[in-house]
Amino acid sequence: MALINCPECSHSISDQSLSCPKCGYVNSTKNRVKNNLLAKESQISRPQEKMSVLEYMTRFVVFILTVIIIMIVILALFFLMP
Ligand SMILES: [Zn+2]
Repeated sequence: MALINCPECSHSISDQSLSCPKCGYVNSTKNRVKNNLLAKESQISRPQEKMSVLEYMTRFVVFILTVIIIMIVILALFFLMP
């Protein structure tokens, strides 16, 4: 813990404090760390795994449908050949 000078009013404030108690200047360095932690927490809490599973299932179903359509077209061509 160290004392720094407030950029706004030059009042000595703690580098651990979020804002200057004299003029209300917000300590942006401390807030940036806090914002990074919040961003990391929001990334962890995001339902990323469920979304990827859903995307995988959708791609799998589309792939199976494509294979079935290609099989039907090949069979139709085979039976329509004279
Ligand atoms: Zn200040």
